Amino acid sequence: MNRKLIFELSKRNCRGYILPEWEDNTSIDSIIPQNLIRNEDLLIPELTEGEVIRHFTNLSACNHSVDKGFYPLGSCTMKYNPRYNEKAANYPLFSTVHPYFPSELIQLPLMIMYELEEFLKEITGMKSVTLQPAAGAHGEFTGVLLMRAYFNRKGEERKKILIPDSAHGTNPASCALGGFKPISVNSSDKGGIDLNHLQKLVDKDTAALMLTNPNTLGIFESNIASIREILNKVDALLYMDGANLNALLGYARPYDLGFDLLHINLHKTFSTPHGGGGPGSGPVAVNEKLADFLPVPNVRKENNTYYLDFENKNSIGSVMNFWGNFGVIIKAYCYIRMLGGNGLKKATEAAVLNSNYLRALLKDNFKLSYETDTLHEFVLNGSNLKNVGIKTIDLAKALLDYGFHAPTIYFPLIVKEAIMIEPTETETKETLDCFACIMNEILRIAEVNPEKILNAPHKTPVGRLDEGEAVKRLNICYFEDNENITPLCE
Ligand SMILES: *Cc1c(COP(=O)(O)O)cnc(C)c1O
Repeated sequence: MNRKLIFELSKRNCRGYILPEWEDNTSIDSIIPQNLIRNEDLLIPELTEGEVIRHFTNLSACNHSVDKGFYPLGSCTMKYNPRYNEKAANYPLFSTVHPYFPSELIQLPLMIMYELEEFLKEITGMKSVTLQPAAGAHGEFTGVLLMRAYFNRKGEERKKILIPDSAHGTNPASCALGGFKPISVNSSDKGGIDLNHLQKLVDKDTAALMLTNPNTLGIFESNIASIREILNKVDALLYMDGANLNALLGYARPYDLGFDLLHINLHKTFSTPHGGGGPGSGPVAVNEKLADFLPVPNVRKENNTYYLDFENKNSIGSVMNFWGNFGVIIKAYCYIRMLGGNGLKKATEAAVLNSNYLRALLKDNFKLSYETDTLHEFVLNGSNLKNVGIKTIDLAKALLDYGFHAPTIYFPLIVKEAIMIEPTETETKETLDCFACIMNEILRIAEVNPEKILNAPHKTPVGRLDEGEAVKRLNICYFEDNENITPLCE
């Protein structure tokens, strides 16, 4: 692969495209104001069109993606997504629609949003849904604002939200951003909430507990009824981080479990490839207590006609300007319609089965921190890798040489040298067998030749990077000419 920057490939006066000669005799100076005329050469690379296309096409193939290979990134649900959804999302009717079109002209897009809300209500058991938030974290933030509005209405100003120590980092961040103090709750030795610690922390100043279920260890919180009881004593709310809803579809509904509200990551559970920085979609579903406060506008249906309703006098306001992420909504809608209720249930079954199959293949050579059963993902404890002279980071890097994306590592924080694996429902038994085989093979290589693993990866476009340094010293370069390299920032 050609690893030069496009600026390094540049050749003086090389052109990809040439404009026709200027035909009349007026000079450019008489048409363009003096202050807008460039005095120096424009610093852009000079190449033929073909060279530009090849450069970027080659670059685009450097990154690993779910279309290239297995991507077992725990917590992120990196699954293959049906191509049909992309096609549907790209129909001009959807890709060119504008929220200010008169509602008569956009009945179909409005219907899809309305029906998606209905599906999400059925799946979660909740009473109302907003499709506004643009990501899971944004959904959390919206949920926090809803909870604040709920207590304000009751004339209370509670300050604390409790969050288990296994939670995703966005949970405390969203609480802090919404004006609450995030307080950490310990996990028990079974991997669920430590009820005694929870009991000690809950008081009249507690607005809510924010619980991921199943949690980031893949463990279903079996004490949910006792947790609800503890919270009820002080009328605190129970928020569900629904990022792992793909483990519950058709089996358990957050409303029935006693949750007051949750966010749903459409881009994790209901199709849409992600990981490239968005867009995502993080709808929030709420019970009766919180419906009044939902953001506006909302899609409504009257006499078989759909429209956007901007009225809701207790609303927290808008959390986004309309739906720039509309494609994600279309993909989730298609996915749900294509699979149907039984299909969604089967997807959950397959995700849980795949995860447990892989866990069984790995648990003898890698340690588990918790023996508790897991659902769609599991976390290995990499601390015994030191027996063969490597660490979790080295194992992760070595996997890249075999065409796998690394699992999520060093998260959740409560597991030492954590290796968090989520195979998803879309992987075959052959892929899982192959992955387990390679994981075990890396251990074997490390035993005889640890250097090879410590220096991995060897086959990727760039080798082992100093990750700490790379974060601190961003080095973006441009080239004034082929010899003289000028860093823009160091
Ligand atoms: C992904 C994830 C989030 C954040 O969701 P985004 O859509 O990435 O903002 C929150 N909690 C958990 C458990 C997650 O896995």
